[in-house]
Amino acid sequence: MEVSSAKFFKSYSDHLQMENDLKPEFAFIGRSNVGKSSLINMLCNNKSLAKTSQTPGKTKLINRFLINEKWHLVDLPGYGYARASKDDKKQFDSLITNYIYQRENLCCLFVLIDSRLPPQKIDIEFINKCGESGIPICLIFTKIDKDKGKHVEESVEQMCTELKKYWDKLPDYLLSSAEKALGKKEILNYIGNALKQLV
Ligand code: GDP
Repeated sequence: MEVSSAKFFKSYSDHLQMENDLKPEFAFIGRSNVGKSSLINMLCNNKSLAKTSQTPGKTKLINRFLINEKWHLVDLPGYGYARASKDDKKQFDSLITNYIYQRENLCCLFVLIDSRLPPQKIDIEFINKCGESGIPICLIFTKIDKDKGKHVEESVEQMCTELKKYWDKLPDYLLSSAEKALGKKEILNYIGNALKQLV
């Protein structure tokens, strides 16, 4: 699938504000600084659609982008930022969980994982929570340009080993680098295939 048009649609501070339209949604989430904004911009051929390198934890809104007039890309706030207050964390957490548990339009939640880091507890907990609740997820290992050769494989392997402790069938995963424009075709094809299955 090609992205021929990508427009900012609207921001929401609560999933209940989201319109009851029927367009399918593909959402992106990950820890702050995982490379989510850069990835979204790469997918949409627009360097400034999602804001990159904001103060971690600052994006407290759900941002929706209309793609090809057909589906919505949903940019969810990052989780696991060290500096936010307890109240802020609670607010972010409920914004995220309410959306992913209750939004019927959600076709797939892409959970971004920094390929340069060993498996992070917070990512594993989040992924497992999604699994337990039957949320359709696909992992995306980001920043694969920063790793040399085998490290990416090792990173994926380590994460899979951790997840196998909890999952019978592991979730799908893809690899990406916004820096080197890697993974764009694969991610868009993944979305394209999911859209085809809807009709
Ligand atoms: P977000 O907080 O998850 O939205 O992450 P950003 O997209 O703002 O990126 C966080 C930092 O990682 C920035 O300094 C980016 O330049 C850097 N970054 C993002 N994607 C990549 C990538 O694919 N490769 C490399 N090397 N750096 C990246």
